[in-house]
Amino acid sequence: MSTWTIGSAAITRVEEQLGITNRPCEDYFRNFERDVLARHLDWLVPEHYCAQQDRLVTSVHSWLVRLDGLTILIDSCGGNHKERSWAHRFHQLDTPYLERLRAAGAAPEDVDLVLCTHLHADHVGWNTMLRDGRWVPTFPNAKYLFSRTDDAYWDKRKNPAMADDPRHLAYEDSVLPVVQSGQAVLVDDGYDVTSKLAVEAAPGHSPGHVVFRLADAGQRAVFCGDVLHHPLQVYAPHWNHAADEQPEQAAVSRRKLLESCAEHSALLFPIHFGAPHVAAVEHRAEGFVPRFVRGVG
Ligand SMILES: [Zn+2]
Repeated sequence: MSTWTIGSAAITRVEEQLGITNRPCEDYFRNFERDVLARHLDWLVPEHYCAQQDRLVTSVHSWLVRLDGLTILIDSCGGNHKERSWAHRFHQLDTPYLERLRAAGAAPEDVDLVLCTHLHADHVGWNTMLRDGRWVPTFPNAKYLFSRTDDAYWDKRKNPAMADDPRHLAYEDSVLPVVQSGQAVLVDDGYDVTSKLAVEAAPGHSPGHVVFRLADAGQRAVFCGDVLHHPLQVYAPHWNHAADEQPEQAAVSRRKLLESCAEHSALLFPIHFGAPHVAAVEHRAEGFVPRFVRGVG
């Protein structure tokens, strides 16, 4: 398990899944360009692209952040035993995610904060677990931070159109039980999680998508959720993912994020990049370039 250090914060990757995507490249990105893939094959294989199957390789993981005595979990993967008919990669999973979290040093009761960048199924799954036939919060002592805009979008009580979208099930089994237990905090752009960790709106992939910006002792990181899905998007920020709800806005947020990472030397901590999972961003004349940063361990 790899750990990165930003100022006094220690950040450990907790894996749920790593492997090929379940759709062809042309479906994974709406405006995929095969020549961009071909140009970068030398470093893409095998961590980011599987040539035999012609599929991109992606990860699904959480970031476990230890900061000033707090134990913080950022995005909670797909979760176990969840009905996900629209996303086979997340349907009825049975993974040892909680064992891995324990191996990283955090039992469920140790987690103080769960931060979700947005409310898609692969970012909220471990928010809850099945106990006696009911979905209950996995982290009994945690406050869970959800974007207020995303909450209003995915909750069919607030947005009746969502009742016809099967994906609202992820809200029902992985967000609503947390709201009902009183552990949810709805946040907006500019909310300070701590004096070192702030919420910033980055809409597009979902209407209320947010990123979490960490700054400590002159070092910076951005937990950017699904503003980017794959390192090739650093070279091709105009590529939109199939699940980007608002593609034009998603591309604007992606470009803005890359720009700010390059300007402030902030490391990018996405949720779906293959190994080594974390990258700095350089802005050169020809465009943005990722520079991977390996963790320790
Ligand atoms: Zn995702």
